[in-house]
Amino acid sequence: MGSLDLDTSVQYVRGVGPARAAEFASLGVHAVEDLIEYFPFRHECAPKSQPIGTLTLGQTATVVGTLRTVRLRGPIRRRVVTACVEDGTGRCRATWFHATYLIDRLQTGRVVRLTGTVDVYRDEACFANPVFAQVDDSDDPLANDADRFEPVYPASAKLPSKQIAKIIRTALFEVGDRIAETLPDTLRRRRNLPPRRVSILRYHHPTRPQDVSAARRRLAYEELLVMQIAVQLRRHETAATARAAPIRVSELADRRIRARLPFQLTPGQERAVSDIVRDMAGVRPMNRLLQADVGAGKTAVAVYAALAVIANRRQVVVLAPTEILAEQHYRKIERYLAGSRVRVALLLGGLTRRQREDVYRRAAAGEIDLLIGTHAMLEERVRLASLGLAIIDEQHRFGVAQRARLRGKGDCPHYLVLTATPIPRTLAMTFFGDLDVSTIQDSPPGRGPVRTRLVRAHEMEAAWTFVRQRIGRGEQAFVVYPLVEESDALPLKAAGAQVERLRRGSLAGCRLELLHGKMKSSEKDAVMQRFRDGRIDVLVATTVVEVGIDVPNATVMVIEHADRYGLSQLHQLRGRIGRGVRESYCFLRSDSDNEKAAARLDILCRTRDGFRIAEEDLRLRGPGEVVGTRQHGVPTFKVANLVEDVDLLQAARDDAAAIIRRDARLSAPEHRNLRGVLVKRFADTMPLIDVG
Ligand code: ADP
Ligand code: MG
Repeated sequence: MGSLDLDTSVQYVRGVGPARAAEFASLGVHAVEDLIEYFPFRHECAPKSQPIGTLTLGQTATVVGTLRTVRLRGPIRRRVVTACVEDGTGRCRATWFHATYLIDRLQTGRVVRLTGTVDVYRDEACFANPVFAQVDDSDDPLANDADRFEPVYPASAKLPSKQIAKIIRTALFEVGDRIAETLPDTLRRRRNLPPRRVSILRYHHPTRPQDVSAARRRLAYEELLVMQIAVQLRRHETAATARAAPIRVSELADRRIRARLPFQLTPGQERAVSDIVRDMAGVRPMNRLLQADVGAGKTAVAVYAALAVIANRRQVVVLAPTEILAEQHYRKIERYLAGSRVRVALLLGGLTRRQREDVYRRAAAGEIDLLIGTHAMLEERVRLASLGLAIIDEQHRFGVAQRARLRGKGDCPHYLVLTATPIPRTLAMTFFGDLDVSTIQDSPPGRGPVRTRLVRAHEMEAAWTFVRQRIGRGEQAFVVYPLVEESDALPLKAAGAQVERLRRGSLAGCRLELLHGKMKSSEKDAVMQRFRDGRIDVLVATTVVEVGIDVPNATVMVIEHADRYGLSQLHQLRGRIGRGVRESYCFLRSDSDNEKAAARLDILCRTRDGFRIAEEDLRLRGPGEVVGTRQHGVPTFKVANLVEDVDLLQAARDDAAAIIRRDARLSAPEHRNLRGVLVKRFADTMPLIDVG
């Protein structure tokens, strides 16, 4: 005993060995420290034990008593173990079939706990195959608490929960004293959190239900605090060094900019504009995420920001994830700027080398005010004479590293990131903790409702008939196929076949065309253009439409295999319709009989509030689904839960800020252990902390 330390390999915990160590490794447990932080996902309340004398026939009961006689009976292949247990109020019998191995553990005189259904055998209470535990096992220091909660661990076939529980107990018994505190005392007291050691012990082996929640809170808080420190440190470092050109918006400039917009900004847009104006007025670069549901009017806000910067004689770039979107931005922005002196250029793959060189030259000479392109523009030799603002559409496809590259192109610009994926607050704080967030919750007036319905295979004919009627009235439709992976050829084939089927059958006479990610961008653009011009009635598309095609005349959308998408993604898709004043219709086709899938899709039928939908998605499918699987570095927490721990996250955020303000290097003695945890967790993603 005492040979274990927190960093010892689990292999050396009594009862583990190389084979189980390998099994533990597959659960992400390598060292003893990982083991004791391998937490149960729930606790089962072991039934209260009762005196043997009070057992009644047919009930499920637990008794604790002393083993008296233990026998092995019957022919060799059908051996039965029987035992007699006494507790002072009576005797009962236990019988195990096919469990000869128990014989070694059933030594007379030992105290055991039995749980099972009470039967009667020869006038005596009797359990057949009861669950059995030794109560006085010296391996098991916590076993004597009479009515305790059994931890249930995420287990594997080879490593069942009960085994894990036993191994963790052994480990805790040996290293429990060495669990060090990580939180400064003052903080722990202020937040009313139990010590780390106590929390870990209680989380595994609570004696009362409230122990579990106190322990969980404490451990969750610590995870969130460490994460917040990491996120905020990153920001702290940039803020300390980066300088941007301050942008001043005079009253006159404000009036001129507003005159360009053909409508009044909604209150939500106004708030976003004033956040941006305030940020850009400083020498610290703005780092702001503007999130709003599709169609809520982000572009108008972005145009305001761009014009403010251009009025200050600085350049603006707009980066979109795809060429279609870059072009769409260009089109929209041009509309706002028609007749102005703002010099706008679009940089796309389709340009000839000469045209491209020309754009480079003008950008570098400061002859372009607003340059729009795809993220790929960063790979190229674009130099801007005086970049003042970078507007980035769709953050999740655009990482921190890319932002850094953009910074390398000139002065440090202000950043405005647009996202149409509503991100629950907790997630935004986690992923984009280095960004300030503005949210537009309202939407421009005059939007028709979108009716959403779940349709089954047998209802599809009716749905197609409906689509045909709408087309008959001059409206347009989308049919969407899921494209799970860019390389996924199956849905592409399915979509192609469907186009043929629909052309010949249900949508005969309508003009259908296919749009998919494998097409050359010039082909895509041509199809999109025809759809926009109303020369195509039905656009059958893989999810390329997801990110932002704006065709107000499209009022119907059929989404095939809707159950394969996350809710947020479906919501995004649906955002392509309902952009005009007319009523729109979205049919979610699902042939799955899974009730959960249906319940999930039902949420979409009931609400159009992207934030509520994203929260449901977060609850049902986890953070990776909400922000897109392409995002790397989805934070994983052992204990914290981004749905339930909103208040803790808020507290952790404030506390992290206070810690960084006082001690950004975490070099004070009370921060030493916290720093250790931080380095251990974020060393590879945080070059900013010197690991020394
Ligand atoms: P997003 O980029 O958030 O999807 P857009 O900026 O493209 O939204 O706006 C969607 C549509 O709403 C556009 O046609 C735009 O002209 C219109 N729009 C935006 N803001 C307003 C407003 N305040 N009042 C009326 N219409 C607006
Ligand atoms: Mg937009």
